[in-house]
Amino acid sequence: MAVVLDILKNDPRGPRHPEKAHRPDQAVQLKKPDWIRVKAPGSRAWTETQKIVREHGLHTVCEEAGCPNIGECWEKRHATFMIMGDTCTRACAFCNVRTGLPDALDAGEPEKIADSVAKLGLHHVVITSVDRDDLRDGGAEHFARTIRAIRRASPGTTIEILTPDFLRKDGALEVVVAAKPDVFNHNLETVPGRYLTVRPGARYFHSVRLLQRVKELDPTIFTKSGIMVGLGEERNEVVQLMDDLRSADVDFLTIGQYLQPSKKHHAVMRFVPPDEFKTYETTGYAKGFLLVSATPLTRSSHHAGEDFARLQAARLAKLPPALSA
Ligand code: SF4
Repeated sequence: MAVVLDILKNDPRGPRHPEKAHRPDQAVQLKKPDWIRVKAPGSRAWTETQKIVREHGLHTVCEEAGCPNIGECWEKRHATFMIMGDTCTRACAFCNVRTGLPDALDAGEPEKIADSVAKLGLHHVVITSVDRDDLRDGGAEHFARTIRAIRRASPGTTIEILTPDFLRKDGALEVVVAAKPDVFNHNLETVPGRYLTVRPGARYFHSVRLLQRVKELDPTIFTKSGIMVGLGEERNEVVQLMDDLRSADVDFLTIGQYLQPSKKHHAVMRFVPPDEFKTYETTGYAKGFLLVSATPLTRSSHHAGEDFARLQAARLAKLPPALSA
């Protein structure tokens, strides 16, 4: 982790979160428990992954969000690419991605991503982006172009996207769905009662509806969503959120512990113990999700390749015998 944070600290463009810079530090500063243990980055394979990312001038959410799993994932050459720049037009209270006014889109980025995916030899790739509320379509066409470029360069690679909400961008979602990603992920991030504090620029029911609409447009696409816990939510609110996602026919739910990127970000209100994650997993399966990943270090894209295979197997297992043969 130290390597990642050092890279971000030395950014010559000034504070990553100007809107938070003058706020007082959070009063609550909980000590990390023993069960939050991560693999340190820096192995040979990790360095090779970093080299490919740097050579192509790409951004990854692994670095920008300060993800605790980067040591483990990059060692397996699994990086989650973040398209449309490194600057987000929103300013969520939990997120470490730089905020401000983004640069113009790089029209060559879809091909650079496709080339990197081919060089890394990825069987499954996750593509995410910053929010681009400044763009007419929220970046939908750029997402679609990226999916198509990866398909051309690596036809055997399955593609998972983790998108913004395209709020107030009519027709944007349809453009992305038409490009046929294998998995469409859009994170709810937290329960509705915490939105104004945690995710003030978004609307909970718009996000649920977006996921439902993906399934209506193309039922073959797997849908996925995730939340963080430890942000002050109650258990019954998480259970209600599961029901909301199942009403939208969402297949896969991820739940992980929120970790505070800096003293200016939303405080960790609680470290949820592993056995409580286990009960969330059990409840999620009982509610009908094809797959539930709920552990302290679960992140949207963690083990995404293995999880995709499990999703396919779970869908097949639910089909009547004549159709699954
Ligand atoms: S969990 Fe996702 S964001 Fe974190 S390091 Fe792994 S691929 Fe990157």
